[in-house]
Amino acid sequence: MSTTVHVHQSNVSPYSKTNTLLLCLFLGGFGAHRFYVGKSGSAVALLLLTFCGFGGIWAFIDLIMILTGSFTDNFGRYVSSWDGGPQRAAPVVSVTTHPPPQQAPPPPPPQKQADEMFCNTCGALSKKAETFCRNCGAALQK
Ligand SMILES: [Zn+2]
Repeated sequence: MSTTVHVHQSNVSPYSKTNTLLLCLFLGGFGAHRFYVGKSGSAVALLLLTFCGFGGIWAFIDLIMILTGSFTDNFGRYVSSWDGGPQRAAPVVSVTTHPPPQQAPPPPPPQKQADEMFCNTCGALSKKAETFCRNCGAALQK
């Protein structure tokens, strides 16, 4: 008697059957193989059962399922490939770091030269030699 399991390609879990089997063999009581395939919920349940002394049976059943290729991952895909199923291409993350733009130094505040003075009316800089402010036309007070 022989059973042939036809597994659709897209139903193959990317998790390796080898890893799942080994984890179940050695750490099955801790739910390691279920953690591995993403079934963390049932993995915790298995772990708790182990503390009660029943986890070994569950792990053994899982072991049979892994061997027969009927063990599934958290997405219901069969962990049936010894090397893991089709791997999704790792997303290409290109991080381009741009140096911060060079901050142009702020324009220096108008420096009052010896022959200049600030207009008392508008604050603009005017030549001391001039009588009236070039900006507002007010008479410069010297
Ligand atoms: Zn002025």
